[in-house]
Amino acid sequence: MTVRNGREFLSIPGPTTVPDEVLNAMHRPAIEIYSGVLEKTTYSCLDDLKKIFRTAGNTYIYAANGHGAWEAAVTNVLSRGDKILILESGRFAIGWGEMATMLGVDSEILHATPCRAVDPAAVEARLRADSDGEFRAVLVVQVDTASGVVNDIAAIRRAMDAAGHGALLMVDTIASLGTMPFEMDEWGVDVAVSGAQKGLMTPPGLSFIAASDKAKAAHQGAGLRTVYWDWTRREGEVHYMKYCGTPPEHMLFGLRKAMDMLLEEGLDHVFERHRLLAEAVRRAVAVWAEGGAVDFNVPEASERSNSVTTVLMRNGHKPKPLLDFCEHKCGVVLGIGIGELGGKAFRIAHMGYVNAPMIMGTLSGVEIGMQAVGLPHGKGGAQAAIDWLGQSVAA
Ligand SMILES: *Cc1c(COP(=O)(O)O)cnc(C)c1O
Repeated sequence: MTVRNGREFLSIPGPTTVPDEVLNAMHRPAIEIYSGVLEKTTYSCLDDLKKIFRTAGNTYIYAANGHGAWEAAVTNVLSRGDKILILESGRFAIGWGEMATMLGVDSEILHATPCRAVDPAAVEARLRADSDGEFRAVLVVQVDTASGVVNDIAAIRRAMDAAGHGALLMVDTIASLGTMPFEMDEWGVDVAVSGAQKGLMTPPGLSFIAASDKAKAAHQGAGLRTVYWDWTRREGEVHYMKYCGTPPEHMLFGLRKAMDMLLEEGLDHVFERHRLLAEAVRRAVAVWAEGGAVDFNVPEASERSNSVTTVLMRNGHKPKPLLDFCEHKCGVVLGIGIGELGGKAFRIAHMGYVNAPMIMGTLSGVEIGMQAVGLPHGKGGAQAAIDWLGQSVAA
């Protein structure tokens, strides 16, 4: 017997739930690729991406997942043998750095205290020690989707400035754009990377880059440039070249609708919705943790992201029975632990197209599961989330 029939809740940190409006916008015949309709869609998407990245710089759309945009970012501004500094805060910046290494870039990792955000003072100290200015770029994620950590990008920029270092600041916002503030120009970010399938509520398959003037200047001398990713080739007048080939039409129709929805809600409201719902999840986890079997992966409350919460299993408990119950008996699909957290944690995503009943459904599903599989937990996690939302969302 199960209680799973009905709408399944996909609570994984990407791909996230795609709104019906976005799916419907994609449900149309393919159109002529040189048409004005498509050109208009492209230019409006490139413009609105600037509003979301908060930049006056250039934006680019790739028919690729986030890894594609990672490669695009590296190849457009760097050369073989360049040195870069990778700021660890979990799994994802490390993965980006490994990609750069395979492309021939010399990557150094600035290790973080496990489960902690990047320490801006450590960044400043490392960059001061690089007195010849050898590092060409600093790579960091805003939210690490594995650990659940959020980094303070503005503080990292201040640390770079305090060290008087001229490296490019390159930021992965794949799990944060559209869920929390990101101020590309104000924070002095040179290259920002993002993807469609997390905060931006679009099916996987598109990724985005925004580049500052300084990044564009570095691009002129970059030795790793390739035809497909190249910014210059994508900046010409010919629309077809914006994608280096056939435009990903249906993905663009979906993205157009998703950005309309975000801008209509208003980015400030979008971020506040995420903050409220993320805190609801944290209230529940804090109560469950009283049973001794689970805890926050990120010990510092201020370093927990508003897009995903990573829940660590303690005292020898494994996440699999709980995840299996939630999915197969309740219809709630949770994220698995990844990287070194494989088999040791699970993740609750709260980003993109989420509202209070979806979050409450997920939290209640987890709490039902904890009881059913006999996982010791504090009772009333879902109630704590209700209390928080009832107090915080103004009538
Ligand atoms: C999901 C994610 C990626 C990878 O994106 P793909 O589309 O899976 O290639 C990279 N960085 C972060 C922070 C992510 O959350």
